[in-house]
Amino acid sequence: MIPYGRQDITQSDIDAVVSVLNSDFLTQGPKVPEFEDAIKTYCGVKYALAMNSATSALHVACLALGVGPGDIVWTSPVTFVASSNCALYCGAEVDFVDIDPLTYNMSVASLEKKLIQAKKDNNLPKVVIPVHLSGQSCDMEAISRLAKTYGFRIIEDASHAIGGRYLDRPVGSCAFSEITVFSFHPVKIITTAEGGLITTNDSDLHHKIQLLRSHGITRDPAHMTEASHGPWYYQQIELGFNYRMTELQAALGCSQMRRLDSYVSKRHEIFNDYVSQLAGLSFLKLPYLSPTSYSALHLFIVRLDVKALKKSHKEAFEELRAKGVGVNLHYIPVYLQPYYQNLGFKSGYCPEAETYYGTALSLPMFPTLTKKDIDQVCQALKEL
Ligand SMILES: *Cc1c(COP(=O)(O)O)cnc(C)c1O
Repeated sequence: MIPYGRQDITQSDIDAVVSVLNSDFLTQGPKVPEFEDAIKTYCGVKYALAMNSATSALHVACLALGVGPGDIVWTSPVTFVASSNCALYCGAEVDFVDIDPLTYNMSVASLEKKLIQAKKDNNLPKVVIPVHLSGQSCDMEAISRLAKTYGFRIIEDASHAIGGRYLDRPVGSCAFSEITVFSFHPVKIITTAEGGLITTNDSDLHHKIQLLRSHGITRDPAHMTEASHGPWYYQQIELGFNYRMTELQAALGCSQMRRLDSYVSKRHEIFNDYVSQLAGLSFLKLPYLSPTSYSALHLFIVRLDVKALKKSHKEAFEELRAKGVGVNLHYIPVYLQPYYQNLGFKSGYCPEAETYYGTALSLPMFPTLTKKDIDQVCQALKEL
């Protein structure tokens, strides 16, 4: 089965990890700051903080922005559950803004409509988390304009989008947000096995996140409540976590960062090959690329016209899997999950997201996908 996504590990990645194993530091050594610096430079942002996952990063991002009981966080329903769970971890409520039928990202028109209503009802969100689905940036300029009007803060969930650009700036530059979060899970653009990272230009947020990442402990006398007792001394001044990345992961990340641009351009080559081979299939809606962004192309999502195809979505999915094509579906609308249904969400809540769920398929997309693999995927779709 050709998987939908797959990591690429080279001998230099292996050597980088092995050299950490032979070094003095497995955690809290020089590799984490080196990885952070590489991403800081790449993204053109002031601060970068590596974490043990994007899920942890989203959690502390919400906490650093003061999200707590009584607050509301909005995100897209077409995302991985972590984009929304982070608000619940903080004791806040979560709500969903329907998607745009062209990009499948959060719809700016739906967001504005919902904000107008929320203002009347006095329940505006504290934080909005746009998700750059498949690596294509949301319309951040429009969302940040709404943030100024309605007084919310923005966390970009860029788990799919490292290496992408928006209005000619790297995703992660935080030009239109307080915080951006990346994921380095093996299916994503670059990997550290498990891992995530936060970027921000705000020194207060940087300071808070640094504390929350490591137990709320500081060794900086400037932040202590009393004079140091001695060289051993540290203070816990917040309730934090252990969300640190290891040196092994950071060494892998540094090594992978060197191939980030070539990975993304390889994904664009695969994209172009798919488009040229599949353009004639009238039952298939190919992905839309917005002129305002350069997508990292984490996913290649197609939509099926099930009427024209005369097969159900599930039948098409199963037929492709039976032919060795590991198609997938990103994502089940979050609020349809039983946990969210128990919170009171009902099916029908975001109609575009549900229509999308009934017709979407992710084709295999990763930089080491071969020409033969691509042809096999396209042949299976033509036979469908
Ligand atoms: C993968 C993913 C996450 C979670 O990332 P982890 O690093 O696995 O915690 C969050 N949001 C989106 C959109 C993702 O795709």
